[in-house]
Amino acid sequence: MAQATTTNHRGTTTQNSAHGGQNRQRAIQHVQGREPVKSAIDYTKTSVAEVFGTNVFSRHTMRTLLPKAVYKELERCLEQGVGLQPHLADVVANAMKDWAIARGATHFTHWFHPMTGLTAEKHDSFLVSSGDDGAILEFSGKVLVQGEPDASSFPSGGIRSTFEARGYTGWDPTSPAFIMESINGKTLCIPTVFCAYSGHALDKKTPLLRSIDAVNKQGLRLLHLLGNTAAKRVTCTVGPEQEYFLIDESFYLLRPDLINCGRTLFGAKPPKGQEMEDHYWGSIRERVLSFMMDAEFELYKLGVPVKTRHNEVAPAQFEVAPVFESSNIATDHNMVLMEVFKKTAQKHGFRCLFHEKPFSGVNGSGKHNNWSLADDAGNNLLEPGTTPHENKQFLVVLTAVIRAVNKFGALLRTSIATAANDHRLGANEAPPAIMSIYLGDRLTHIVDSIITGTADSAIATKNIQIGVSTLPELPRDDSDRNRTSPFAFTGNKFEFRAVGSSQSIGWPNTVLNTIVADSLDHISTRIEEEIKGGKDLNVALQSVVKAVLTENDRVLFNGDNYSREWHEEAERRGLPNLRNTIEALPILNSADTQSLFEKFKVLSRDELLSRYNIMLESYCKTINVEALMTINIGTTMILPAALEYQGRLAASIVQTKNAISGLDLTPQEQMLREVAERVSKLKTNLDQLNAISHEVDEGDVDVLHHASFYQSKVLPAINAVRHVADELELMVDDSLWPLPKFREMLYIY
Ligand code: ADP
Ligand code: MG
Repeated sequence: MAQATTTNHRGTTTQNSAHGGQNRQRAIQHVQGREPVKSAIDYTKTSVAEVFGTNVFSRHTMRTLLPKAVYKELERCLEQGVGLQPHLADVVANAMKDWAIARGATHFTHWFHPMTGLTAEKHDSFLVSSGDDGAILEFSGKVLVQGEPDASSFPSGGIRSTFEARGYTGWDPTSPAFIMESINGKTLCIPTVFCAYSGHALDKKTPLLRSIDAVNKQGLRLLHLLGNTAAKRVTCTVGPEQEYFLIDESFYLLRPDLINCGRTLFGAKPPKGQEMEDHYWGSIRERVLSFMMDAEFELYKLGVPVKTRHNEVAPAQFEVAPVFESSNIATDHNMVLMEVFKKTAQKHGFRCLFHEKPFSGVNGSGKHNNWSLADDAGNNLLEPGTTPHENKQFLVVLTAVIRAVNKFGALLRTSIATAANDHRLGANEAPPAIMSIYLGDRLTHIVDSIITGTADSAIATKNIQIGVSTLPELPRDDSDRNRTSPFAFTGNKFEFRAVGSSQSIGWPNTVLNTIVADSLDHISTRIEEEIKGGKDLNVALQSVVKAVLTENDRVLFNGDNYSREWHEEAERRGLPNLRNTIEALPILNSADTQSLFEKFKVLSRDELLSRYNIMLESYCKTINVEALMTINIGTTMILPAALEYQGRLAASIVQTKNAISGLDLTPQEQMLREVAERVSKLKTNLDQLNAISHEVDEGDVDVLHHASFYQSKVLPAINAVRHVADELELMVDDSLWPLPKFREMLYIY
């Protein structure tokens, strides 16, 4: 049958062929013809050290290029978080421009993180007219420090009315500028915040920076109280492990759902999934490794310290992890990493999928947000020490984190609430939506012994006297890991494991930092009160740590987070279980959350409300697009293939009956009946989804109500269509099936 181009009722054009299987065969041939692609680097000639950071206007570069006095002043501004004087900004801008132009940059852009969850850039050339038909290249301090993009199309959640649509971007000197390369040129990217003229944050970076500030203030206060007067700064450190899928582009282009929604809306589970456990840490195929090395090369130039690479659990799933950095830079670098991975994948004939659940029935992807605190000398505050002094700091900070996760567990869960992550959380592949902390047996015994005030027989140690006794050594080996915990202590840091793979880590870290700042504040205040009451520091510590642990230990859980028993137990303990985004997001609107963010000046009430609105709107939009795409593919690709097969079966039965009489064709008639019933069901379910999609009240001003409709009505209708379609996939003649199957996409590359 000939190719037919159909335009459906929503105006989308799809290439459709009754012999859909031919497209799949052609895609497979394409894959067969692919070769690993070489990258531009030869490490036998150039070492990683020589490449690393060459495209970054780093502190080191600034120190070499800037006049000494200017650099000193810049450093002072960075330390104190104050703005640079205009004439000094001019000097920095000029040095930055010369440096970038010398490396081939023709354009610059303020690079920011609007609340779309992506990054935004609008390029401007350095070019200005000299007035005599000539051209000069210019970049002033004013242009470096502030930009005024016409940014009216970015989500603002109601903060900014259209008449004052122009927000501004402001230079974030704490994250270095960098040069992005592409085939025909280079662009200088300057990390910036994005705010409305009223000062309201319209991005993900501004609240993150404010939360970092809050931790710094409260962290220093506590350290000084503990007698560590040398510390001048407390920073949050983050190392995000990033999971992703690689799919050959030939298959990807035949999947309109992957192209438009980032995930497959149809597809039966492959006969071989991940149950053989043969992919995790398996040897990396040449084509994939070539991609990884090429992407790493690009990232090295950008100063992104990628370190680890390996095959993940699901087929065609992989992971990359960097060396940890301060959380602002780690967040910027993670965005850069995703960008570079997507670009490089295409160069290698792949598409890189960051969606949390691209393939139903196989593991989804997450982003393990490793998090800790450090002082300005680089000492990790969650490193259990070998001296009573170090232990003191460790135990107090640990206690603060435990309280934070217990008191604000619901908020923490909300920080990872998206339509995409809903497919993954609690699905026996990722932690459930109940926030709890895994400490491991040893540390749990220590905490228990502090709470009960008794010696710990299990590890044969004496009664823990904070500030006086040392801790028994804590194990840090992998065997002690609990992969089911959403928030696990892994030796000297916490790993927040429920973060979604596609989301910016800016928001979860903003929340994490703020709730920890609150606990550091709470603990310092209590210690100060005890000391005022006449207690000695160590005695005060012992009693405050004991009290705070006792008040918050319900959040500690070392067992299997996937089990039903835990869900019951968590309910008995009163821990919130916000199963999906719609249950979670209202937490943002609660009085507790508002006063938390206001207290630490991280988000005003308006800014918080705008985020709540944007997240709900984004939820609605995601599911709306999925619904339309389900209708589109179901109607124009799957139904035609199934009808064709149904017709062939019917014709074959009639012809056979005509040819020979007396044959029992009941089994064949049964085949036909099973197909025909599902075809009818598919049509009915598509009609239902269509009807429900039209029931959505686009004018609904109650966003939560609007989003709830998507969750409770539209989503189940999408799933109902999928269910029948996936059954048909397992019945219909393979040569007619138009969509690349999971067994192909996940295994042929
Ligand atoms: P594993 O979790 O397998 O033990 P690593 O210890 O190397 O592996 O850490 C995994 C991730 O955690 C890496 O990205 C690493 O940089 C990061 N990480 C390590 N220490 C810290 C820390 N103190 N703060 C934040 N992230 C950290
Ligand atoms: Mg991992």
